[in-house]
Amino acid sequence: MILVRVEGEHQIWWQVLTGNSNFWFDNWTKQGALYYIEGNHAEEEEIEVREFINQGNWDIPKLRSKLSEEMIKHIVETIKPPTEGRKDDKPWWMANTKEVFYVKSVWELVRKRDEPTQCYELMWIKRVSFKINFFYWRVWRRRISTDDNLKRMKITSVSRCHSCDTYEEETMCHLLLTSPTANKLWKQFAIFAEAHRAIKIEECLQSNTLINNVDTMEEKKCQKT
Ligand SMILES: [Zn+2]
Repeated sequence: MILVRVEGEHQIWWQVLTGNSNFWFDNWTKQGALYYIEGNHAEEEEIEVREFINQGNWDIPKLRSKLSEEMIKHIVETIKPPTEGRKDDKPWWMANTKEVFYVKSVWELVRKRDEPTQCYELMWIKRVSFKINFFYWRVWRRRISTDDNLKRMKITSVSRCHSCDTYEEETMCHLLLTSPTANKLWKQFAIFAEAHRAIKIEECLQSNTLINNVDTMEEKKCQKT
């Protein structure tokens, strides 16, 4: 599971501005998320990059308590310390060519390669945070590390969903749509959004329309490529 997550997340570089990137899990050093590359030093902690600043400069003693000397040297020499009042840290897509693209341009590439569909348009919403939009995109491209997706990559394991008590296989559809837990969540959010949508989602889930649509579109994509 972790392998797939690493692969996806490492494609994004967070440019430090105000320093609100996650210290351990966002790739703000261009070397990959520190959680994965700092081995023994890494801790599972929700801390932000801006917490490592002292009077406008990198707080070296604090960095030393968390990171290796090598990494600290890299940070101090190549990354401008975050400044209060600047904009949120900015995500950039690092393509395989090692060139840096702004995420919008990548989105345009994706749109050109596949025909723009209503789903894509619904997926990329300006007001929603980048992380959420990117998660939609990963789900759409089957880039989340559920057991069914891992199986497609020839990584097999005994699969069991851990988010409910149904003992079903952990598939993307089960986890995000059909499991009792997902169902409960969808209904809850649908009620908050608009009551009439709740009925529609329920219908979709009952008839599996949503899942069939995703699978058919996925097949079409595969045939094209
Ligand atoms: Zn389940």
